[in-house]
Amino acid sequence: MVAQFPRLSSVSRRRFLYAAAVWPLLRTAHAVPKSGRVVIAGAGWGGLRAAAALRQYAPGLEVTLVDRSAYFTSFSGSNRWLVGHADAPPPLQRNYAELAAARGYRFLQGEIRALERAAQLLHTSAGALPYDWLVVAPGIEEDWRAWGVDDAASVARLEAEASGAMRSAADLPRLRARLQDFKGGDLVLAIPPAPYRCPPAPYERALLLAWWLKQRRLPGKVIVIDPNPLMPAYRRAFNDTWREQITYLDHARVRAIDLDKRTVSTDLDDIPFAAAFLSPPQKAPSWLAAAGLLASANDPWGAQDAASLRSGVDASVFIIGDAAGRVSSQFGHYPKTAHVAAAMGIMVAAQIAGAGAAPAWPDSVCHLLTGVAPDRGTRLEVAYRRRGDGFLMQEIRQQQEADPLAAAAAWAAAHYAEFL
Ligand SMILES: Cc1cc2nc3c(=O)[nH]c(=O)nc-3n(C[C@H](O)[C@H](O)[C@H](O)COP(=O)(O)OP(=O)(O)OC[C@H]3O[C@@H](n4cnc5c(N)ncnc54)[C@H](O)[C@@H]3O)c2cc1C
Repeated sequence: MVAQFPRLSSVSRRRFLYAAAVWPLLRTAHAVPKSGRVVIAGAGWGGLRAAAALRQYAPGLEVTLVDRSAYFTSFSGSNRWLVGHADAPPPLQRNYAELAAARGYRFLQGEIRALERAAQLLHTSAGALPYDWLVVAPGIEEDWRAWGVDDAASVARLEAEASGAMRSAADLPRLRARLQDFKGGDLVLAIPPAPYRCPPAPYERALLLAWWLKQRRLPGKVIVIDPNPLMPAYRRAFNDTWREQITYLDHARVRAIDLDKRTVSTDLDDIPFAAAFLSPPQKAPSWLAAAGLLASANDPWGAQDAASLRSGVDASVFIIGDAAGRVSSQFGHYPKTAHVAAAMGIMVAAQIAGAGAAPAWPDSVCHLLTGVAPDRGTRLEVAYRRRGDGFLMQEIRQQQEADPLAAAAAWAAAHYAEFL
């Protein structure tokens, strides 16, 4: 289970004690603060997990979780539900107010508008929240401007008619309704450039769409526009098993979209479509830039330490989950997965609480569906460790899974039990 972490090794313990000594807000490494206000900006996988862990590690702290929505909705397993694969259930949804009452923290529904770091205030549509520690966990925004669309009306139309719904799982029913209206023709699926959330998700979705077209005997193909190299786990499915249903365009970039003519333009071609699932480049939500929490004007992600997850410019601010930025010159970002976001939530809660049993690094486990009818799966694990010379190492392990649907369901249930 995700929340179980081994006791710290003596090296990790020394690192933790050193770090705690230099962080001004943690006066002693293991003294649990009896009072203080923690505000968590964003109640997704990272924010919810941080709130639950804070209740456990530091019951004396006042914890307020903020989100624009009244409900948490999970992306996990949603690709299968979109196409009705093997009776997949709808995305799991929970009411925040009920969760907060059951878990013992406060929930405030409101739109986060700005962060005033000097005054330690988070401004929301429901009022300003003072904090001693701020956990920034707002997930991602989609950057339609990168595809030349910059007026609000055009963005709203794209989101309604052609979005791949990767920003919020609450948008998935709209995507499913579009699919149910689909009568055949080519279906364009555009993948964002890395880094983006859940790297295997668009490949898995393309595969399930190919299966769905075939099942329903609908004429047409899935055309995948991918600016990245093809993920190796999907090579066989795309190039062999499903090549009649999938046209894969590698290293292809979307340059423009014309919804009236129903075409997507890439560097090489104009591609007509009957339906489109478009996912533009992703970035940290805009208020982070205004609050000076990004690495630079050219890097749209948060800037935080790889181990402490503290903002480089403000020791009272932590940045976690998909909004977090680069941690390595070699591999770039931690994977933008729910598993990593939850692990980061535990890490920051333990630091704020001065709890000794903090995990040193996040980890990630993903159960990917890499074949359909018959179903095949791959377990993808990512782990981190600091090498003797201080270099952060990323280790990736993959193995085939006998029962991918059961493995994914067990993974999700173990996580949900910790924070829902
Ligand atoms: C199709 C798909 C399938 C996936 N499947 C998996 C999977 O099986 N396993 C896995 O590990 N990962 C999966 N992921 C990735 C996973 O969903 C994300 O990595 C995870 O949600 C990141 O958590 P987070 O807390 O950073 O952001 P989120 O979960 O997106 O939470 C951010 C929260 O902040 C709120 N928010 C943002 N801005 C504001 C604002 N201005 N005001 C108020 N509230 C705001 C949002 O409403 C949201 O609730 C999948 C992703 C997709 C797209």
